[in-house]
Amino acid sequence: VEAGRRSHWGWGHDAARPSGDALDGLAGLLSARFGEPATVRAPVPLEDVELPPSRVAPPSSLARLCRADPYERCLHHYGRSFRDVLRGSRGEFPHPPDLVAYPETEEDVVALLEWCSQAGIAALPYGGGSSVVGGVEPLVGDGFRGVVTLDLSRLAGVVELDRRSLAARVRAGTFGPALEDALRREGLTFRHFPQSFEFSTVGGWIATRSGGHFATRYTHVDDLLEAVRLVGPAGVLETRRVPASGAGPAPERLVLGSEGALGVVTEAWLRVRPRPDARARATLRFGSVERAVEAVRALAQSGLEPANCRLLDPAEALVGGAGDGSTAVVLVGFEAAGRPVGALLDAALEVVADHGAVVAEREVLDPPARAASGTALVTDSGSAGAPGAAPSGGGGGGAGPAGAAEAWRRSFLGAPYVRDALVLCGAVCETFETAVTWDRFEALDEAVRQAAAAAFAEATGGRGSVTCRFTHVYPDGPAPYYTVVAPGRAGAELEQWQVVKEACSDALLAAGGTITHHHAVGRDHLRWYLAERPPAFGAVLAAAKKLLDPAGVCNPGVLVPLA
Ligand SMILES: Cc1cc2nc3c(=O)[nH]c(=O)nc-3n(C[C@H](O)[C@H](O)[C@H](O)COP(=O)(O)OP(=O)(O)OC[C@H]3O[C@@H](n4cnc5c(N)ncnc54)[C@H](O)[C@@H]3O)c2cc1C
Repeated sequence: VEAGRRSHWGWGHDAARPSGDALDGLAGLLSARFGEPATVRAPVPLEDVELPPSRVAPPSSLARLCRADPYERCLHHYGRSFRDVLRGSRGEFPHPPDLVAYPETEEDVVALLEWCSQAGIAALPYGGGSSVVGGVEPLVGDGFRGVVTLDLSRLAGVVELDRRSLAARVRAGTFGPALEDALRREGLTFRHFPQSFEFSTVGGWIATRSGGHFATRYTHVDDLLEAVRLVGPAGVLETRRVPASGAGPAPERLVLGSEGALGVVTEAWLRVRPRPDARARATLRFGSVERAVEAVRALAQSGLEPANCRLLDPAEALVGGAGDGSTAVVLVGFEAAGRPVGALLDAALEVVADHGAVVAEREVLDPPARAASGTALVTDSGSAGAPGAAPSGGGGGGAGPAGAAEAWRRSFLGAPYVRDALVLCGAVCETFETAVTWDRFEALDEAVRQAAAAAFAEATGGRGSVTCRFTHVYPDGPAPYYTVVAPGRAGAELEQWQVVKEACSDALLAAGGTITHHHAVGRDHLRWYLAERPPAFGAVLAAAKKLLDPAGVCNPGVLVPLA
């Protein structure tokens, strides 16, 4: 995060993006795949971007926290969805925040919210800006004098550690790598690795109920949150530090997923754990997706609770380097601190054997004490390895560099840069995700693929691909995650994507899924969220907002529709 300034339009740092021959190569692949010439477009440089003038000035007491230069206003204009990256790379920044404020203390947050409430200015909390659902875009209607984005990145750090209870008090603006660096020094980890880990924050995770490393059981940040503190214009909501409670509806559940609409999360107590030093994982291949689905269902219902359990359809496996495109692949992994987990993997392999699994790779790393007595890393090929240093947020369960699983993990971590490069090559390229019960999965998958095909016929000349993986699995259903790539028509990519997005989102809801398993609601999913949530709950949420944010300035238009 500290290494230079972040791109004002795309993921991460510009220097890390494919360029030159790599970009041309990508355009060549696109042309070959869709039979249309793909040309590479250069992103519009910041100097050429025209911005509307800032409409508000901060009071002198807050001026030291506020910035209004073009870089800050562009950086905070969008999240990092396909639509965001496309518009940003075209130099389109029509409604930037008027000011970007960097609160350094909770008192600063209180003062900024007070000023915004009194002056009729919308206040948008901002963590890492990795939202893919329009959560940080200042589209707040006409009812406000201006927009101030509250960038929480200076309200950061691990401020207290309760070793005995394994919990850490962490400020909201702490980015993933900074959190893990601080915990690593104590032999601990939070082990929450969304794919956006590098450029997203603790507060953002809580506000969006992000999904992380664990494919079963502790899938969302919800499960790792002990207590939370939210500052709203009308006061503070702080929940009690307890391991569990049956005292009425859980107050932290009001804050989880609140997406900045109720106020600013300033800090939280997070459940941490000793760093795992024992891992076991396998790469499994299946003759058909149907058999792989049944195998994963059996695993999810076995009670074994693997840390990693990812199903990749053949095309997804091919793109990620985990397969040759002819078979579905399942990556399964276990991990623990101080005790071996090889027996758990063996039990999992027994479960999937009945479903025709072929074990392509198997790897076991015992904890150091056992390693010293001679049972170090054992792989089928007999080679030794060490745990990967990079987060294994969705890859091979955190174990060493096994071929297919490691290839897939690397591709997973580099994917956001490749996505941006595809956008520059003219592709329509985006993901969407859901969760559904097992009894409805096949029908939902079929409906999504049909909806996408019909949308391609309407919008992209019938050309486009849809691939699927399961990011998380539960005893009662999977969380399917779809990736769409289609050739764009220069200048019409937004409209083309909108056709696909609407068709697929309608299909998800009609087939019994949710509009999002972990990407959140933001502005982009509001329509489907309103259809999905019980109307009475919507009224309760609106009442809660009225109470905590009487002037309605906190991220207007998110979760509660604009008046
Ligand atoms: C390439 C890529 C990969 C991704 N992978 C994953 C993934 O694996 N799992 C996943 O769950 N999501 C993923 N996302 C989505 C996104 O990273 C998550 O939603 C993440 O939790 C957002 O965190 P952030 O700090 O970037 O929040 P932001 O994007 O800054 O904000 C998101 C929302 O939270 C609110 N918010 C932020 N901070 C606070 C705060 N302190 N108090 C109150 N409200 C706040 C904002 O107002 C906004 O509504 C991915 C996104 C990208 C671009």
